[in-house]
Amino acid sequence: MQYTDAQLNQIYDRTSGKCHICGKKLSFSNYGLSGRKGAWHVEHSNPKAKGGTYHLNNLFAACVSCNQEKGIYTSKTARSWHNRKRAPLSRKKRKKAKTENAIIAGGIGAIIGGVVAGPPGAIIGGGIGAKLGHNVDPDEK
Ligand SMILES: [Zn+2]
Repeated sequence: MQYTDAQLNQIYDRTSGKCHICGKKLSFSNYGLSGRKGAWHVEHSNPKAKGGTYHLNNLFAACVSCNQEKGIYTSKTARSWHNRKRAPLSRKKRKKAKTENAIIAGGIGAIIGGVVAGPPGAIIGGGIGAKLGHNVDPDEK
């Protein structure tokens, strides 16, 4: 199967250019070029042998070794070999998750700060909480 550049872009961006199994950074221009740094393949999350389709929602970027290693195992199984539960998020989803973390942590920080030091504490606590929340890598959860 030959993919168009637009399809490859879409597949690559789904996981912010990272292998959906081990999370390693991939190099877009080294698609299909085994042996190159960041070389990657298009991987069928549900294997072709098990009826997986060429529909975009079944396709993920994976490094060459992960793609070979996964074989007919499920993505869940292959990710568990690398202590991962899910595919890396797309840039858009990462941004959204970071904002949500910041809002939640900011709220918690404001409550704690408010209890400890009153309104000024709430402002400081909220700021610190939001910053900490924003620094949490959504992929690490
Ligand atoms: Zn990998």
